Amino acid sequence: MRVLIMGAPGAGKGTQAKLLEEQTGAIHVSTGDMLRAAVGADTALGHEARKYMDRGLLVPDDVMIGLIAERLAATDCGPGYILDGFPRTVPQAKAFDTLLKQTGQSLDAALNIALPQEVAVERLAGRRVCRTCGTIFQAREGGTPKGGRCERCGGPLLQRDDDREETIRKRMEVYARETAPVLEHYRKQGLLREVSGTGTREDVFARLTASLRGA
Ligand code: AMP
Repeated sequence: MRVLIMGAPGAGKGTQAKLLEEQTGAIHVSTGDMLRAAVGADTALGHEARKYMDRGLLVPDDVMIGLIAERLAATDCGPGYILDGFPRTVPQAKAFDTLLKQTGQSLDAALNIALPQEVAVERLAGRRVCRTCGTIFQAREGGTPKGGRCERCGGPLLQRDDDREETIRKRMEVYARETAPVLEHYRKQGLLREVSGTGTREDVFARLTASLRGA
């Protein structure tokens, strides 16, 4: 299975991609996670990417296309992948079409999780991510789960640097301008499936899997 998970920042792409990975065995490939790992490891890529990520801007297309071509060629992607965070611009989507053609692959679906912007902004501001296992939580009244520790592995829960209010607004603007047009690209190819991102993660997951069964 090869699918894209799309949606504005805060729509729940990462959460749903992880659930799909658990259920299908296809690997979750998140360009945001790859870039954050590069920033954490202080590589040349990380150094370059950080300049954009900290400001809520997109990393240049040529960097992203090279990164994804290399990642998808790895053997663990052979049985399938769930691509989260790529493509994010129309030029990336076109380059990805070419890459798929060159490798003789095709996509099963482009799944878009739709969520009203106010709800997405609220979720992003309350999002906490486990530094150890990457599980995503919502901050609760009275503190994050178990006093700031991950409910799965006990790791520390942190707020992403780009989940601060000013950066969230910028990311939403960039999404509307650069990424929303990518939906049309996949609609024209007959691959777009839209589901509502409201409700619990289980509600959204049930809609996604139903939509995939019909893909
Ligand atoms: P995400 O975790 O998907 O929200 O990505 C976090 C940040 O990484 C984004 O705000 C961008 O700065 C950068 N990024 C991730 N994927 C891409 C992409 N496909 N193209 C450009 N920048 C990206």
